[in-house]
Amino acid sequence: VLHWLNDTGREVDSDGKPVRQEVNLRRLILLIKPEAGILSIGVLGLLVSTGATAAQPLFFGKVLDAATHSMGDINRSVITLFLMYVVGSIMAIIRGWLFTLAGHRLVARLRKMLFRSIIRQDIAFFDVSRTGELTNRLSSDTQVVQNAVTVNVSMVARNFLQIIVSLTLMLILNAALTGVLISVIPVVTLGAMQYGRFVKNLRKRFQDFLAEASTTAEETISSIRTVRSFTGEDKALTTYAIDIDKSYNVGKKLSLASGMFEGVVGIIANGAITLVLWYGAKLMLEGHVTAGVLTSFLLYTLQIAIAFAMLSSVYGDFMQAVGASFRIFDLLDRQPVVPIEGGLKSNHIDGEIKFEDVQFTYPSRPDSEVLRGVSFSVSSGSIVALVGPSGGGKSTIVSLIERFYDPSFGRILLGGRDIRTLDPQWFRRKIAMVSQEPTLFACSIKDNIAYGRDGSTEEVMEIAKQANAHNFIETFEENYDTLVGERGVRLSGGQKQRVAIARALFMDPAILLLDEATSALDAESEHLVQEAIERAMENRTVIVIAHRLSTVRNASKVLVIDKGQIVEAGTHDELLSKDGVYKKLVLRQLMAGSVTVNDN
Ligand code: ADP
Repeated sequence: VLHWLNDTGREVDSDGKPVRQEVNLRRLILLIKPEAGILSIGVLGLLVSTGATAAQPLFFGKVLDAATHSMGDINRSVITLFLMYVVGSIMAIIRGWLFTLAGHRLVARLRKMLFRSIIRQDIAFFDVSRTGELTNRLSSDTQVVQNAVTVNVSMVARNFLQIIVSLTLMLILNAALTGVLISVIPVVTLGAMQYGRFVKNLRKRFQDFLAEASTTAEETISSIRTVRSFTGEDKALTTYAIDIDKSYNVGKKLSLASGMFEGVVGIIANGAITLVLWYGAKLMLEGHVTAGVLTSFLLYTLQIAIAFAMLSSVYGDFMQAVGASFRIFDLLDRQPVVPIEGGLKSNHIDGEIKFEDVQFTYPSRPDSEVLRGVSFSVSSGSIVALVGPSGGGKSTIVSLIERFYDPSFGRILLGGRDIRTLDPQWFRRKIAMVSQEPTLFACSIKDNIAYGRDGSTEEVMEIAKQANAHNFIETFEENYDTLVGERGVRLSGGQKQRVAIARALFMDPAILLLDEATSALDAESEHLVQEAIERAMENRTVIVIAHRLSTVRNASKVLVIDKGQIVEAGTHDELLSKDGVYKKLVLRQLMAGSVTVNDN
């Protein structure tokens, strides 16, 4: 689990270092830079519409004062007022449209950048991150940032400007009255800031609890079969409900706070208006101001009160966005230890593999060494079988050949070159993997087979035939266009295996990494899968985690892996004659798993 808030509630990055908020703000602004063109027109709209709104009370008062002069004056001032409204509204449309548009463009860009950064991370990163958390970053955090840097920025600018312009005009109208109003402002500002700080913390906690809940929900829904079969519904509900209740409890406090705040702001605003009204009426009585000026004044007071209320409500959103942006930047900045591209490439790859004293510890479990000095070599085009008790380190060896992780000591050579000097994308294209329980994507069978590279339907069909998959695919109504998985056909275990073999073969890999299925398929399927695998192995370097006796018999070398070490090595016959671990332990295991294949 990634920790973005430490125990004391401070924001820390994924390495536990505290984060400075100014840095985030500056970067947020840099993010909006490409939208500068759109935004500058938006700002123009904002300036004009705010100016128009700010001038309205002035002209409103003029209409009233014109009422004491002539009909001509009345008409002129009413028309001016109406024109102000029209211009102001048109400009407000432009402002609203362009700021929102800029927001959408920003969030689309941000999401692509973020997704790119996520899928380029180390496998080790995914060992410790929960899927729900990462998808949350992509969907809700980016949304919060979008609102902040566009809608909220526009609101802040508009209201701030409004306050400045209104106050200036008021000062020109009547300095004494303005003084009365200004005396209230510091009280409101301080209160609003205090409230903003309080709400910021609450909102962050609210968001965190909600993220927890959605992670639980996602896990439950995506593993619904396991949940159902273990009758885990109540348990899942309880876990979910606890998280939701936590967020609800924060929500309760938030509602009270926002209600109180609105009430208090209302009291202060109305108080200010009453005060201005009282003082203004006094000035009017003494003949210092006209009814029109007083009306303008009251309208300004109202405008300023509303602007203040808006500003303070935005403050909370803004603070929330700073938190969200920080989590986004942390992910964006994260450099994978194992890069996904860059390094040596060549036209030809030799399938020779060599491990030199490889030691390895999973980054997520630093205390237990998984491989302890593993050395072996596989000559090009030969088959090496890995056997041994489960948990010994066989899959880990396979993962290291794909460079999912780097060894903590020692080297892995591919065609005589240290794997760390090679371009990972390049050499991964020369390696294909078929795992025990292959994952197929929710797209057509054709697209599943042609996942590693593009290819024509004829090519796909040719490969599917080699993988013994063509016949069953033909029985589907839509043949190769049949959708797999959710909203498509559910393939049987054996069928999935054969599609996965076809997908591997389609890459025409120099090296094939195989994890034989331990669970027995039905005899017919077993035979077809086995035949496909044997065909796939031809003319390739193969490393196979073996569970079948026939496989170890065919292998040119068998490595017995136990507790992270190679405890025995040799051909099947050599190991049998040794009378060691292989014979005692492994052979019994292999025989048990291979009954269906070899006895038929
Ligand atoms: P085998 O394939 O022989 O069954 P593995 O290579 O899967 O063995 O596992 C070797 C050891 O590494 C085990 O103790 C296992 O718990 C641990 N291990 C495997 N995968 C991971 C991982 N992604 N993160 C942390 N530890 C792991």
